[in-house]
Amino acid sequence: MTGAPVGLLIGGDRITSTADTHEHIFPATGLPNARVALAGAADVDRAVGAAREAQREWAAQTVDVRRDRLIGLADVVHDHLDELAVLNVHDYAVPVAYAGTAHMLEAFLRHFAGYADKVGGSSTPVSGSFDVNLVEREPYGVVGVIAPWNGSLAVAGSCVAPALAAGNAVVFKPSELAPLAALRFGELCLDAGLPPGLVNILPAGAEGGDALVRHPGVRKVHFTGGGTTARAVIRAAADNLTPVVAELGGKSANIVFDDADLDQAAMLSAHQGPLMQSGQSCACASRLLVHASVYDTFVEKFLAVVSSATVGDPFDPTVRFGPVISEGSLTRILDTVDTAVRTGAGELLTGGKRVGGELAQGFYVEPTVFADVDNSSPLAQTETFGPVVSIIRFTDDDEAVRTANDTAYGLNAFIHTRNLQRAHRVARALESGSVWINSTSRISPQGPYGGYKQSGFGRTGGWEGLQEFLQTKNIRIGLG
Ligand code: NAD
Repeated sequence: MTGAPVGLLIGGDRITSTADTHEHIFPATGLPNARVALAGAADVDRAVGAAREAQREWAAQTVDVRRDRLIGLADVVHDHLDELAVLNVHDYAVPVAYAGTAHMLEAFLRHFAGYADKVGGSSTPVSGSFDVNLVEREPYGVVGVIAPWNGSLAVAGSCVAPALAAGNAVVFKPSELAPLAALRFGELCLDAGLPPGLVNILPAGAEGGDALVRHPGVRKVHFTGGGTTARAVIRAAADNLTPVVAELGGKSANIVFDDADLDQAAMLSAHQGPLMQSGQSCACASRLLVHASVYDTFVEKFLAVVSSATVGDPFDPTVRFGPVISEGSLTRILDTVDTAVRTGAGELLTGGKRVGGELAQGFYVEPTVFADVDNSSPLAQTETFGPVVSIIRFTDDDEAVRTANDTAYGLNAFIHTRNLQRAHRVARALESGSVWINSTSRISPQGPYGGYKQSGFGRTGGWEGLQEFLQTKNIRIGLG
């Protein structure tokens, strides 16, 4: 894949000559596999201009045309699912067996295409008059969408699709660490007949991202990433009072009650914990709360599933466990493990080292499990974004809920029980945007997804996800 820089996509043109580039490293080998052109402020300005023009053309189409174009885009994506999945692997070495975000993109496009002809307002009575009072819903115009490296296609589906359905144009900034699938998505938008400039793809780092957030032509920012970056984005957006949606990280609790199907719970917990994307998921169930009466039995089953995962080349469809994104990330994760061991935050049951042998050049961290972890330790409180899980013992439902909620985050929570009343009662008590019962985080286009507390604000998916890209106008017609 190396050669000419992978470009930007602005107004239908692929631009490969930029002031700055980034050497993209394939995490499974530690070797460069692409040179990425990085957008700077001038590129952002050009993209916002192209988007503004395309948005006028888009808004001038009837809703039927916009709906059918988005359905057409979903069809084009469908024809390229395998190609997008492979690009996802090139992007961040997610095992191809887990590279399902291309399917997610198609599903979200179909879902939001269905809203394109259903965005309506209302008319209401007004006090002291018989005037006509209309409440209408309008697009913002140009929106900036910023994606993390672990989900460019998921964000294309959950954010770009509703933004377009609502009538906006988009400047989409994938991470410089994973720009390949997003750029291909931009090309597919052109193939599907969307106006050039309606979807611009600008791989960039912090500088380009900051320029996008600060651009006065960007009327709304949809940010997905970490809390530290979110704070910088919100501060930058404050200069123009640009509204921001923030979809951030988590430290999700995964509660296994004594009446759970322990085999199923062990399987689901292992996949939702250290195995899925090597724990590099906002939904990673990194705190595993287990009832004391089933603790030993469950831990044994859990470790058996974790240790059975095939580690290796992410292009091999039998592989379930790949590397982490970068050397820096690997070092950070191993430091977290070392500190936890040194400070006695918990007992290291398995993992904790870099994988050696044939995989030694890649950024592979062994699936790592700590037992009897202190929930107040940094190990249990900080998002590790790696294959590291902390097991914590509890003795009753109230303690489970208290411990689950004892975190600054509130993105996901998981419950394993056969008792419906307990499941519902606990789900309501958890401070979390999503609660999954006897399930993994099966994000669907219909389900509003987003955080409580420091996991962010705003929602993707469903009616709520569409509303993020609409603003409200009140028109009152005086009847004298
Ligand atoms: P990050 O915060 O480092 O970067 C996110 C994006 O922001 C990237 O595109 C990056 O280039 C850009 N960026 C960096 N500095 C910027 C600035 N000053 N202005 C504008 N943009 C800037 O996050 P990451 O490492 O790419 O992703 C991992 C994080 O994302 C984790 O915390 C994870 O939990 C979170 N995440 C959340 C969700 C969700 O839906 N809630 C989904 C996936 C990932």
